[in-house]
Amino acid sequence: MKYRRIASGCTEYCSVAQVQNFGISFLNNLETIYHPDCRFCVNWNDGQCSIFEGADNP
Ligand code: SF4
Repeated sequence: MKYRRIASGCTEYCSVAQVQNFGISFLNNLETIYHPDCRFCVNWNDGQCSIFEGADNP
C-alpha cells in the first residue's frame, strides 16, 4: 500500500498517536507507531504533505 510504503521510508513520520501520547485508543495507536502510514502522520494534512507528493516523483 502506497501510504505505508512511503511512510516506512520517511524520516519525518510522526504518528498522531505519538503526538497525542496514546490518548485515544491504545491498540489503535500502537498500530500507527509500528506500522507507519502516511494517513496517520501529523504531517499528512489531507494529502498535502510535500514529502508524500514528491515521493513518487523523483
Ligand atoms: S505524511 Fe509526509 S511526513 Fe508523514 S510519513 Fe507521509 S510522506 Fe512522511
